[in-house]
Amino acid sequence: MLEQKAMLKTGIGSNFRCIPLHGSLAGLECPVCRATDGWEAHRGTINAGGELLCSVCITYCMERVAAGKRRPAIGQLRPSMIMLDAVHPQGDKIVSLAAEDSAAAEVLLILGTSLKVHGPEVLARGFARQIRARGGKVVYVNLSKPTSAWNGLVDYWVQWECED
Ligand SMILES: [Zn+2]
Repeated sequence: MLEQKAMLKTGIGSNFRCIPLHGSLAGLECPVCRATDGWEAHRGTINAGGELLCSVCITYCMERVAAGKRRPAIGQLRPSMIMLDAVHPQGDKIVSLAAEDSAAAEVLLILGTSLKVHGPEVLARGFARQIRARGGKVVYVNLSKPTSAWNGLVDYWVQWECED
């Protein structure tokens, strides 16, 4: 389900796919069992200031307790964000898509990132090297200039606020 949410299809070409590297606020996720859920089902609990307990964990807990087994942890749902230093749940998919996507691209657009977080920086750097090796161009769009570590990897810097 998380994979389905992350693999967005849009009207931008037939093969456009997006994996949010930092997760998404579009839904909730249980940190214990990785079950996903929407916000709407929990609106009443949120408005009342209650805990967003995972229904999958609750069901599993009830089954174990009924069977006379130890009570497992019950997760509290939280936005499906990927915290720094956390393992991305779609890491394998990112690696395969990175190889597939960079195989034919002629232009790389790097938008709205300072390229200071190691994982995304390494991913963007790998794309940039492959695309430039084939004669493609790399465009970096951000208010701040790319660091000197990107010398020779960025063809154009567009100083611009991406949200504009
Ligand atoms: Zn759970």
